[in-house]
Amino acid sequence: MIPGPIEISPSVGAAAAGAPPSHTSPGLIAAFGNALRGMRQVWRADASSQPFVIAGSGTLAMEVAAANLVGPGDRVLVVKTGYFSDRMVEILRRYGAEVAEVGAEVGDAPTVDQVRAALAAGGPWKALFATHVDTSTAVRIDPEPLARLAAEHGALSVFDGVCAVAGEPFEMEGWGADLCFTASQKAIGLPPGLALMVASDRALAARQARTASPPPLYLDWLSWLPIHRAYEEGKPSYFATPATSLVMALAAGLAEIFEEGVEARWQAHQRAADAMRAAWAALGLRLVPKDGLAANTLSALTLPSGLKPAEVVPRIAAQGVLVAGGLHPAIRDTYIRVGHMGVVIHRPIDLERTVRAVAAGVAGDAESAVAAFRRAL
Ligand SMILES: *Cc1c(COP(=O)(O)O)cnc(C)c1O
Repeated sequence: MIPGPIEISPSVGAAAAGAPPSHTSPGLIAAFGNALRGMRQVWRADASSQPFVIAGSGTLAMEVAAANLVGPGDRVLVVKTGYFSDRMVEILRRYGAEVAEVGAEVGDAPTVDQVRAALAAGGPWKALFATHVDTSTAVRIDPEPLARLAAEHGALSVFDGVCAVAGEPFEMEGWGADLCFTASQKAIGLPPGLALMVASDRALAARQARTASPPPLYLDWLSWLPIHRAYEEGKPSYFATPATSLVMALAAGLAEIFEEGVEARWQAHQRAADAMRAAWAALGLRLVPKDGLAANTLSALTLPSGLKPAEVVPRIAAQGVLVAGGLHPAIRDTYIRVGHMGVVIHRPIDLERTVRAVAAGVAGDAESAVAAFRRAL
């Protein structure tokens, strides 16, 4: 129950566990092509967008975003909601970007008006970066108005969807977003090892227009573009060996998502999160995110005063449930994080067990917490 790596479904596990296919085998080519088409559907992106599947973690996806879109002297605005937006700032600076930041207190997010004012105060802007769900605070922003604001300023909008994609509503085409990336081990429900992203035709054009200082070869979309196009056309191709076993898992995982329905899956995350929040309220545990900002993919729970994650997390683990400690440096010792994404949201019995374990960890009343959970569900 940590916010990634999450539990995977049996069919995803079976797909990953087969003999590693060759990167040119018909089975792998078919799976890769299906995965790319499927990603457009999960991201709700149009046919002109380009999905990329590159071996690496979510941080690699952040590097790829910066490397392809940002060069020395480019002005970018980062909407800061926690640890992972801070990481994005660090990465962007290393690519020479002039980074402006618009932030808020821990657990809060800047308002749309504050972002509008920050954009109006500077520029010209190359891009706006925001974290859909910041996994360190469980703060969720609304990407839609930010994507529109960026477009009004002629800037690209880039969303870190690592803790959101397939768990929180996202409409790449409808909102006019330009890039959204995730990592395989979070809400999309695969083993760790893949950086997954979908770029709009505008984002791709921005890379193509850049002739000076090309990105590092492995990070360059233009290195991967012919390979990804070939896979979608059902042809073998090679640039650098893909993580073939994980591509098989990706195709299986996306097929499962379509069986359920993308929207149904978002709603299932909402229902599970509402029920978990009812349990936390019954236990008297305060959420780290301010009202209306709590993500559906995980809960960040402030511990009663005097309790520290270093004692609470092992006590919960003693009940057979693994949760995570704090991550945001400003509040690290005061809260815990409980993931609720992927297959587990369809297993109320496991969610209930988590509620009981957390209750034991904070010496709360498990029965009333479980009752609140059941009522809400
Ligand atoms: C986990 C996470 C990352 C980093 O992903 P890694 O796979 O750990 O490199 C980036 N952003 C968000 C929002 C995350 O949750």
